[in-house]
Amino acid sequence: MKKLMAANWKMFKTAQEAKDTAAELVELVGELSADREVVVFPPFTALHAAGEVFTKHEGYSFGGQNVCAALEGAFTGEISPIMLKDAGCTWALTGHSERRALFGETSEQVGEKTAFALNNGLNVCLCIGETLEEREGGKLEAVIAEQLEKGLATIPDVSAERLAIAYEPVWAIGTGKVAGPEEILEAHAIVRAKLLDILKEKANTTRVLYGGSVKPENATQIISLDNVDGVLVGGASLKAESFSKIVTA
Ligand code: PGA
Repeated sequence: MKKLMAANWKMFKTAQEAKDTAAELVELVGELSADREVVVFPPFTALHAAGEVFTKHEGYSFGGQNVCAALEGAFTGEISPIMLKDAGCTWALTGHSERRALFGETSEQVGEKTAFALNNGLNVCLCIGETLEEREGGKLEAVIAEQLEKGLATIPDVSAERLAIAYEPVWAIGTGKVAGPEEILEAHAIVRAKLLDILKEKANTTRVLYGGSVKPENATQIISLDNVDGVLVGGASLKAESFSKIVTA
């Protein structure tokens, strides 16, 4: 199972900036080690430009940060799986905590998007994670269970490598407050156990990524933890210099 090193560029970078960062990244990483795979999520308007670089390099792919659960229609402001594939994408991100918190996406909607994108040929990285309030209220396990049950409720029977789960505690996203090794181990064990319930034996080879303030300084320790099959990186992925260090950590 290759470690999946994912970059979420959020609402940063023009097309040219995305292309430059992509080119610098592949250059700095050099030959990608055989046990690593890189997927980058640029903003929609920069997909094509970043894709021009990534499609030329083995082991790199890219995807949309969001996807609509419809192929086409009167859905102003939305992007469909067909459009993502047309732009060269092979992945979509679903359920990012910013989509949930700022744009009101429910776990049910996240589940619809996840299933629809998988059904239409995209690989999906489904993001889950608890808020600080939920954690302090003893709800870690319940939140993970709810987000996974609803997020994966109607997914088709696809191979394990087409689905990844990113566990991102909301309190660690963009805050500089990384979860400690014990907290990551505990949460990832809960995620794996729940996945076993839902996906049966396929859960053993479904990659579970950690996200939330991953940096070059903590990446090596995080990816060596049990049940951590990669990382999803926001802030530290914006500069090729820091993300290349994470990719090769
Ligand atoms: P961060 O973001 O690395 O800046 O904490 C992670 C994410 O939002 O996916």
